[in-house]
Amino acid sequence: MKIAELYRSLQGEGLLAGTPSTFVRTSGCNLRCRWCDTPFTSWEPVGEECSSSEVVRRIESLGCSHVVVTGGEPLLFADVTRTCRHLRALGYHVTIETAGTVLNSDAPAGELADLFSISPKLASSTPPADTPGGWHGRHEAARRRDDVVARLMGAGDYQLKFVIDSEADLAEACSWLTSLEDQVHLDRSRVFLMPQGIDEATLATTAAWLEPASTREGLRFAPRHHLTWFGHTRGS
Ligand code: SF4
Repeated sequence: MKIAELYRSLQGEGLLAGTPSTFVRTSGCNLRCRWCDTPFTSWEPVGEECSSSEVVRRIESLGCSHVVVTGGEPLLFADVTRTCRHLRALGYHVTIETAGTVLNSDAPAGELADLFSISPKLASSTPPADTPGGWHGRHEAARRRDDVVARLMGAGDYQLKFVIDSEADLAEACSWLTSLEDQVHLDRSRVFLMPQGIDEATLATTAAWLEPASTREGLRFAPRHHLTWFGHTRGS
């Protein structure tokens, strides 16, 4: 599997915010979000080919009981999902961070993770029509897979995290949740709305209206603590 980075830090978002964790960032993604904050795993994927045993050895050396497997899109790769299952068998708490558009696994989803952290991608994530590589159409065709999201939500513990930049994003997220409620039990206390942005000023501007809006919708506002704690830097 291709690993862009592997490091120890604090989980900055969602239910486990503040938990010391080892982050395993796989490289490669089936989407091309306009505002992607890890373009080195999507638009220009880089990384080092590692065996599963090498990844496990590096995780063990960092001494954390929580492991966050992120990307890119980790669920694109069967060797990544096999490694997640192996880590759970070794006693690690495994979170998989995914956009919820694909699931490449030869084992049931419930065996792969203790927590699926699903970040569905809204229409505003789609890159412009003239983006090279046909990525406007490819992204738009792939970004919404309610069947995959519902399958992951039904597999065990989950959280949903929507990145919100505008009132239109909020309306789309709320409509998407209503549609998911027809397919799977939805616990709204596990739905987080996060401001889009990578600098404190942008995050604060969006947070000013998004925080009360989250409460109004019965959802949770999620500050992006890691950007405050560490800034927008790799390996943090
Ligand atoms: S799904 Fe994640 S890694 Fe892939 S392009 Fe979107 S933000 Fe980037």
